[in-house]
Amino acid sequence: MSESDCIFCKIARGEMDAEVVHDEDDVLAFNDRNSKAPVHVLVIPRQHVTNLEEIGDLPDAVMKRLFEVASAVAEKLGVTEGGYAVRVNNGRDAGQEVFHLHLHVMGGRKLGMP
Ligand code: 5GP
Ligand code: ZN
Repeated sequence: MSESDCIFCKIARGEMDAEVVHDEDDVLAFNDRNSKAPVHVLVIPRQHVTNLEEIGDLPDAVMKRLFEVASAVAEKLGVTEGGYAVRVNNGRDAGQEVFHLHLHVMGGRKLGMP
């Protein structure tokens, strides 16, 4: 998957529409187009990295920032008190569909382990 074909890179570059909920220099958050919970947001680094195996390519501050933005989005969308799940689907058995690292932030209903 090259950056020119990657749908999350296209969203990050503004070439594809998304419902953006948080936008800053290195990190973007937008609603999942097929939400599986009342709150279901994807948090991505603008820099293309495929999965956790490439995490060394991301600056440490960006890695930390992904989780800070996940927390900020949860607060903004009102699920901090009730709680929320932050999930990474990494690779085939986890069902990863989009090969640009992203955090799923899901809340607004009870969420169990799969
Ligand atoms: P994963 O790769 O973690 O299994 O899931 C990718 C997620 O991205 C899915 O929940 C899917 O609904 C979401 N998704 C895939 N393509 C798009 C898109 O073009 N726009 C948005 N907003 N979400 C997408
Ligand atoms: Zn990408």
